[in-house]
Amino acid sequence: MDKQELETTVSKVLDEMRERPIPLGVSNRHIHLSEDDYARLFPGQPISEKKGLLQPGQFASDQTLTIVGPKGQLKNVRLLGPLRSASQVEISRTDARTLGITAPLRMSGDLAGTPGVRLVSPFAELDLTSGVIVAQRHIHMSPLDALILRVSHGDSVSVAIEGDARRLVFDNVAVRVSPDMCLEMHIDTDEANAAGADNPQVCARLVMP
Ligand SMILES: [Zn+2]
Repeated sequence: MDKQELETTVSKVLDEMRERPIPLGVSNRHIHLSEDDYARLFPGQPISEKKGLLQPGQFASDQTLTIVGPKGQLKNVRLLGPLRSASQVEISRTDARTLGITAPLRMSGDLAGTPGVRLVSPFAELDLTSGVIVAQRHIHMSPLDALILRVSHGDSVSVAIEGDARRLVFDNVAVRVSPDMCLEMHIDTDEANAAGADNPQVCARLVMP
């Protein structure tokens, strides 16, 4: 194979890889805790893994909490591991209405000025002073995925969710590139319901500009 042929073949393979559907993960409401907050809510009990998530090292723990707001509460909300440097509660807009709080749309970790909420475990209660967000929809990917898809960390892209007759194109999907991550789009339950994504045939595709 000469150089020209090789380049054509590589570019064909890349085009095909670009067409592959992006795995879609629907994030139900969940909680991340700092080590200190965890120790207060689950004294003397190490966090334990119930089920691994697609992203390497991330897991759903056996531990659940109740989120209590001024208007209502949400029970059995899953704690995700591992523990983090700051506690963060990710809910949908529908959940925020149930709780009676206003939660801003934010990227994970961008918690300045966010509201708090009360967390209740079987052992203790804790009033978080901040950390409640509605997560900005995003796609995790490795640097290789980013190269193939021709996007960079921090880009905002459009993604078509092809599930059923509620097919939707989501704009403003944040691209998150990290060597620790694999290709997966994360949307919340409100977005999944709006797009008919509770369907085994669902797939997500980048809308090329
Ligand atoms: Zn995510």
